[in-house]
Amino acid sequence: MRKRVYKVVLCKNCGHIQITYAENSYQCFRCGTIMELESSKIIFRTLDLKKAKEKLIDLKSIKQPEFKKLSGR
Ligand SMILES: [Zn+2]
Repeated sequence: MRKRVYKVVLCKNCGHIQITYAENSYQCFRCGTIMELESSKIIFRTLDLKKAKEKLIDLKSIKQPEFKKLSGR
């Protein structure tokens, strides 16, 4: 059985952060853009959904200017 890897991803189109376990591409919940995982910004990856959610909450609590710095890395 293959393990799902949960990824916290950032939409380059609208900046929305979400969790996906897709392996090739995913659709942004906010703007509907289909993002290729290879070319998209994966902020964090884990096998543990709970950790992914914690990271997501963490990232969403960061103020926008600071987050822009983070995502530009
Ligand atoms: Zn988006």
